[in-house]
Amino acid sequence: MGIYMRLRNVTGSREAIAANDFVVHAPEKFKGKWNEYFGNDNPIHIEIGMGKGKFLIRLASENPDINYIGIEKYSSVLIRAVEKRKELDMGNLCLIRFDAEYINDIFDENEIARIYLNFSDPWPKDRHAKRRLTSVEFLSRYDKFLTADGEVIFKTDNRALFEFSLEQVEISGWNLRNYTYDLHHSEYAAGNIMTEYEEKFSTMGNSIHRLETCRKCRK
Ligand code: SAM
Repeated sequence: MGIYMRLRNVTGSREAIAANDFVVHAPEKFKGKWNEYFGNDNPIHIEIGMGKGKFLIRLASENPDINYIGIEKYSSVLIRAVEKRKELDMGNLCLIRFDAEYINDIFDENEIARIYLNFSDPWPKDRHAKRRLTSVEFLSRYDKFLTADGEVIFKTDNRALFEFSLEQVEISGWNLRNYTYDLHHSEYAAGNIMTEYEEKFSTMGNSIHRLETCRKCRK
């Protein structure tokens, strides 16, 4: 696992998560009904692998007219976001503990306008390529629930994963809207919100790579 997140078993994290209204416990029941959940027709953006949630909580507080769903596989990580979320009163953000492999069980056609993938696990072994969140397999899952011009925005410092992702976008026939190998010195630097991992890796001197892709871009 190297420098990537080492998972600790945070005692009581499952119970602490269960006690919060903004953590959705049976997300499958909202498939096709997320607008009802939020009580409005605003667009919905999601982050898969949100970690401690700094990025998404900031986005949600800056954009009250967009609904946000944070998805994280492990309760031991999600609990950190839950602790932060408790301090804020936002109706436009909810959190889900869920493995994105089954994401088609929770979102329906045309339901999601944007997916953020930030510093996703690299799964460096070839035999694990299908687990990478930018693989052809995952793009085809996203294709089933993104809006017509829905998009994926991906950031990483991992060059091999980034190059793999550019390749997978092409193989999938998606449109690459833009990309950069050095986000912090690019035209996309203004307005960039740093994630926990982004802060850590850029402090170490790593360049941050970023791409935007959509299944049906308006160019
Ligand atoms: N996005 C955060 C950031 O940039 O600071 C965290 C990055 S961390 C390296 C990747 C996160 O994705 C971990 O918290 C991990 O548990 C989560 N994750 C990995 N695979 C996942 C999956 N299949 N479904 C949901 N979350 C996943």
